[in-house]
Amino acid sequence: MNSVPQPAPLRRSFIRFPTQVEYGSGMLKRIGEFTASYGKKAYCLFDPFFRGSESAAVVLDALHAVGIETFESYEVHPNPRSGDIDKQAQLCLEQKCDFVIAMGGGGTLDIGKAVAFLVTNGRSAWDYTVKENQFYHTITIPPLPFVAVPTTAGTGSEATIYSVVNNPDIQRKCTIRSFELYPKLAIVDPELMLNIPPLLTALTGIDTFAHAFESYTNKNATAFSKMLAMESMRLFAENIIECVENGKNAEARGNMAIASLLGGLAISHSPTTLPHIIGQCLSGWVDAPHGGSLAVCLAQVIRWTLPNGQTEFAQIARVIAPELNAVSDAEAANALPDIIDKLFVRIMGNQRVTMKTYGMDENRAGEFAEFIFHNYQKDMSNYLRVPSQEELYAIIQDCL
Ligand code: NAD
Repeated sequence: MNSVPQPAPLRRSFIRFPTQVEYGSGMLKRIGEFTASYGKKAYCLFDPFFRGSESAAVVLDALHAVGIETFESYEVHPNPRSGDIDKQAQLCLEQKCDFVIAMGGGGTLDIGKAVAFLVTNGRSAWDYTVKENQFYHTITIPPLPFVAVPTTAGTGSEATIYSVVNNPDIQRKCTIRSFELYPKLAIVDPELMLNIPPLLTALTGIDTFAHAFESYTNKNATAFSKMLAMESMRLFAENIIECVENGKNAEARGNMAIASLLGGLAISHSPTTLPHIIGQCLSGWVDAPHGGSLAVCLAQVIRWTLPNGQTEFAQIARVIAPELNAVSDAEAANALPDIIDKLFVRIMGNQRVTMKTYGMDENRAGEFAEFIFHNYQKDMSNYLRVPSQEELYAIIQDCL
């Protein structure tokens, strides 16, 4: 099956992170100062949520103040599609922009990252997505400078080497992986996050937790990636309920923004595993929101994994429920799936989401398991317990 020559896999260093990160409330106002040397014209991609907003005006005014011309686009759809990304890259090229700024959720940042490298490297975004058993292109020419301004917490895309691309024609969502995708600059300003509605706060927060959880439990995790992941989970556990229930709390929002950033940095060093594989495939098949696609499977994957991973699961359980410090590892680890279920239900407004919530047809569960099994062997091999096709089918049945 593996007869197609593929590029050499990424070799991850112990620490590799070239991005300048500026953090703090009101930091957005300084975007002109930070980018003044990047060129004469900026391609400004804004999440449609910011159309006509004061925050978009802050960016444009700050750039104009230092003599940078701007071209604005608001063409962003959730689960970014390769065809839409290619059109944006063409526009950026035609507009002769010198650098790219993306301000928005993870989808917006991922489009911006792809635009920045497509302008210099050509082809379609889809050609660069990593597909097991199929040839794919790699980025060989440095991208335009890319500036990430995250407005959800989140994907951590401002600190990752990934851009996730959807191809609705074949119902697949795949990832571009390259160190060239690290932004040149990330501006993390919690003020941008004060109006995120509760359900979106929960869904994006679940993504942050999933990143940190999966990075921490990846077989190849290192002391550095584990430190980032553990701190991300701690910040998530201490702040997510406050962010959902009192979104205007700037301190809690700031802590979740850091959790998201650290989670992104963690997966750049020790990547996501089984839950993200299932979640990403679900989004490809039924266009489920990213956080929701993870909420449906995280606890089920852990239940199936046990008793493997007992030490790691116990450590994670104790971060969310410190009272478990008093019990054995086995007891703490066994408690983790229910703790996660309960927390997710609470932050999602007392609703439990399943694959069916997002339109998954239960009759396709077998086909879905087969699809994952045949296309994600390498990524699955990083997880604490590697499922057979039958075991994958059983996990998916539990998620329905
Ligand atoms: P998103 O970007 O799809 O945004 C979700 C919604 O939030 C949109 O309707 C948007 O308009 C709105 N929104 C954004 N900021 C807001 C704000 N401040 N206030 C109110 N509403 C706001 O969702 P997301 O969860 O941020 O990103 C998910 C995408 O990121 C998926 O495509 C996923 O595959 C990708 N992803 C990428 C990485 C990476 O490393 N590159 C990692 C994880 C996920």
